[in-house]
Parts: sequence; structure tokens; C-alpha cells
Amino acid sequence: MLSDIEIAQKAKAKPIGEIASKLGIPTSAIEPYGHYKAKIGLDYVNSLKSKPDGKLILVTAISPTPAGEGKTTTTVGLGDALNHIGKKAIVCLREPSLGPVFGMKGGAAGGGYAQVIPMEDINLHFTGDFGAIQLANNLLSAMIDNHIHHGNELGFDIRRIAWKRVLDMNDRALRDIVVSLGGPGNGYPREDGFDIVVASEVMAIFCLSTSIKDLKERLGKIVCGYTKDQKPILASDLKTHGAMAALLKDALAPNLVQTLEHSPAFIHGGPFANIAHGCNSVLATQTALKLGDYVVTEAGFGADLGAEKFIDIKCRKAGLKPAAVVLVATIRALKFHGGIEVKDLKGENLDALSKGITNIERHVNNIRNNYGLPCVVAINHRTEDTDAEVKLLQDKMAHHGAKVILARHWAEGGKGATELAKEVVRLCEEPTDFKFVYEESLPLWDKMKAIATKIYGAADITADSKVRGQIKKLQENYGHYPVCVAKTQYSFSTDPQLRGAPSGHVVNIREVRLAAGAEFVVMVCGDIMTMPGLPKVPSAVSIDITDEGKITGLF
Ligand code: ADP
Ligand code: MG
Repeated sequence: MLSDIEIAQKAKAKPIGEIASKLGIPTSAIEPYGHYKAKIGLDYVNSLKSKPDGKLILVTAISPTPAGEGKTTTTVGLGDALNHIGKKAIVCLREPSLGPVFGMKGGAAGGGYAQVIPMEDINLHFTGDFGAIQLANNLLSAMIDNHIHHGNELGFDIRRIAWKRVLDMNDRALRDIVVSLGGPGNGYPREDGFDIVVASEVMAIFCLSTSIKDLKERLGKIVCGYTKDQKPILASDLKTHGAMAALLKDALAPNLVQTLEHSPAFIHGGPFANIAHGCNSVLATQTALKLGDYVVTEAGFGADLGAEKFIDIKCRKAGLKPAAVVLVATIRALKFHGGIEVKDLKGENLDALSKGITNIERHVNNIRNNYGLPCVVAINHRTEDTDAEVKLLQDKMAHHGAKVILARHWAEGGKGATELAKEVVRLCEEPTDFKFVYEESLPLWDKMKAIATKIYGAADITADSKVRGQIKKLQENYGHYPVCVAKTQYSFSTDPQLRGAPSGHVVNIREVRLAAGAEFVVMVCGDIMTMPGLPKVPSAVSIDITDEGKITGLF
């Protein structure tokens, strides 16, 4: 088997205008970035408003494991498979962050014969959206320090600045820094720090905005600091939101590319799935729904985290209604949930698989009963899976009302996932009982409790008195916002070591953070890293470029 990049570089991409015209997008509406990437003009996007929507299909997964599940790969494979059986399907994905590209996780353009191309571009800079987001974020930082330097009329308490600088790189040296050193001409020294771009509130705002107007209003609502008597200071108080929106004008237009099989793919926005909601932009999803009959999209992490936020934050805010859910699992990952360590995962192990099935059962039940959506399980087939393992999983899941289908898109492309595609088409015609996990009117505390008890299987939630006080204070002005849970993706609990389907645990809220412009309150229930570090041997050491300009070593 060739590497992902070798497969991608062998593909013959079609000019992007051809992909656009397949969707009925006129040439005048696309803004090409080279031959194989284009932005779709916002005027054209707006002109689609009155058209009916296609069916929205969410791809999510069992609780992730270090063994890897393949949500992006399956999203792409399913999109290709739907087109293969004659449907008009579009894929919607997040843009990769450079942090993981040069770090450890690798790219985010799918894998094997289910990839989006040009994968080198998508993984490296793409159309420059993240650069624009970085600048918009850092403009606000510059405006804050400049305001303080020139007399601090708004009364920023420099110990209570709530806005960090960002960079799209894993760089632990920048987590905690001191700025404005070097004398009076350089401002007032204060503690600051960098987050990675995908963790920034501007990224979350960008992805939830429905228009330039909405974007600007949300940017204006950002709380970037507090006065000595703890009154919030907004980006609009600094009159910075207009310039931030101006920097984001081009970026806000959705990006169109293609899969290896020339299916259209929108790749736009990329918020973290912990501190933010973890799915691609609302504008891209809405545009795709106007242009395709089926739109396949991915949410980060497992169905307890990414899918919950997709539903309770993105769908609620944007008025989206999914038609069906695909839950991705690998036999390998289920064996890991059954207690086997990564190094021991090779070889058939029916016993571990049976044990690990508790994890997939909990997710299927959540999707069907708590989100009220029809569901199919896609086994993302790996070459080492045995027939007996596949059969065991299918037998044990038979009574759950969700078919378990073996999908071979990684090795075979779209034709390897036609059975999955047909089942998805069938599910899309089933009536749904779509519901949110909590109502908007519920207090913030009760929203968190609803997620923990219904979705995580927890007995209760706790917080110390300081955090309870903060939640109470936020309740006054922001009580109607959804909550965005930041916790480990590896477990239904807050302990990454608890695999399978733990029950009766207590979820402790360690910290709360307001994202006033993104319109959610982050409940931090574990360690979250908003500026990752590089591993001992980063992927950057393998990435290279030939004298002819060909990129190598990108996975
Ligand atoms: P996720 O979106 O769940 O994080 P990806 O789809 O990005 O996962 O896949 C992660 C990695 O696993 C990719 O490098 C991809 O090539 C690889 N991968 C995915 N599916 C398979 C498979 N069936 N067999 C082998 N490798 C796979
Ligand atoms: Mg992914």
C-alpha cells in the first residue's frame, strides 16, 4: 500500500471550475486559488437562501483511542460512495491545523483511497484562512496593549486581560510569556501567552457566523478583559471588531476542493473540539446543503463530545437538522476499549472485542435515544481485521436497531463503501425524533448536568465554590448560551484511563470560560491544552521538498 501522500500525488485532479459546474455554481461565483482550489463568493452563497436543503449526515465515532478510528477518511469515503451510487453528495470537513501536521497526529485530509486533494495544500496553509484568523486575533491583542500604553481610558486591569495571542504552531515555549519588556516605550509589562489558532475564540466565531454582519457583531461581543471592579471590556469598546471582520472578509467564503474521485468537498474553518465546538463552518455546511442532495460532515472526537456539540451548539444556532448519523468504529479500537494495549492489538482477540463493545453500545444508544437520530455503524475496515471479529461485532450489535456495515473505502475508495451509502440513503428517509440534549432556557449548571448524566452516564456533576460562583455570575447575562464541554475525548468519564462505558462517575467542573462572541460557555472538566507542544521526534523532521518543488513525507 502506498502512503497517503503517494496516493494523493498520483491522482489526476480536475480543474476546480469543473467541480463547481457539476454543482451548478457559475464560473463568475468562484474565486480560484490556483487550479484546484476555489472560494465560493459570499454574494452567490447568499443568493442560494431560498433553495431547499439536502440531507445532512453526521459522521462521528466511538470514544477515540490512540489506535485511530478514521472519521475523516470515512466522511470522504462515504461522500464518494454516495456519488458512486448516483447521488449528488458533498463532503464538509474542517481545515487542518499546522500544529498537528508538524507534530504527531498527522494530516486531516483523510487517508488511503479516501482523501481530499490537493492534500499538500490542504495540510499546509491551504487558502490562508488560518493566517487571516491569526491576524484578526492578534490585532485585538495589539489594540489592547496599545490602549493601555496610551492611558488606559477603558480601565483594563492588566492582571485580568482575557485575550491571548495566537499562532498556528505547536510551541510550548509560548504558553506563558511576559510582554512589553524593554522600557516605557514598549508599554506596560504584563503576563500573556499564546494559544494555537484553532483554540481561539475568533476561530469559533468564524465557524458559527452566518454572514459578515453576524461575524462583525459576534467579534464585537468578545470579552477581552475586565476593569478593576470586574466589569467586562468588549472588543467593540476598543472599536476593533470592524477591522477584525475586514481582515476575515475573504476567509469567510467557503473553500471548494475535490476528493480523489472528484466528489466536491468544502473544507472551511477548524475549531478545536475541546475548548470549542469542533466542526467546520456553518456557512460551508449551509452552502453545501443548498447545492447537494446529501451532505456528509464530520464532528471532532467521539459521539459524546463532538456530536453533542455539533447538535447542541452548531445545529441549534444554525437551525440545521441532521437526517442520519454514521458512527465510525474500528475493530482495533474496540479491542483497545476491551482492555488491550496498543502494542498488543495485532491478531484476533474475540474476548477483548466483546468487552470493548460496551463503548459502541453506549454511543449508539445516545445517538438513537438522546439525539433522536437514525444511526448506522461503519466498521472502518483495516487489513488485519478477521471475519470472525466482524461477525462477532455484527451479531452482538444486532438488537440495537443500528446496522453494522463493513466499509472498505480506505483500501478501495467509494466503491468499497456502497453498502454503507445505501443504508445511509435509506436512513435519511426514516422519520427522526431529533432533539437537543437540553433546552436553551435551562440554567448553565443544569445544562452541564443534563449532558453529564444523559450522555456520559455520570451520576452527578460537582464544582468547588469558586467555580460555582463564576457559573452563577455568568448565569446573569449568559445563562441562555449553550455549554461547550472541554474534557478528555478518551473516556465517557473525565479519566482518560476509564475505557469502555463507565457509569456512575462524577464530573467535576474545574473552570469556566466565557466565549461571549461565540455565544457559549466553556465548562472545563479536565486538563485542556490550548497550546500543544511538539513530540520528541516531530513530523516536521520527515517533511521535505524536492528541488523540483514536490512535497514529500506528509504522511
Ligand atoms: P480521524 O478523523 O478519526 O481523526 P482520520 O480519518 O484522519 O481519523 O485517520 C487517521 C489516520 O488513520 C490517517 O492517517 C489514515 O490514513 C489512517 N486510516 C484511516 N482509516 C484506515 C484504515 N482503514 N486502514 C489503515 N489506516 C487508516
Ligand atoms: Mg478527522
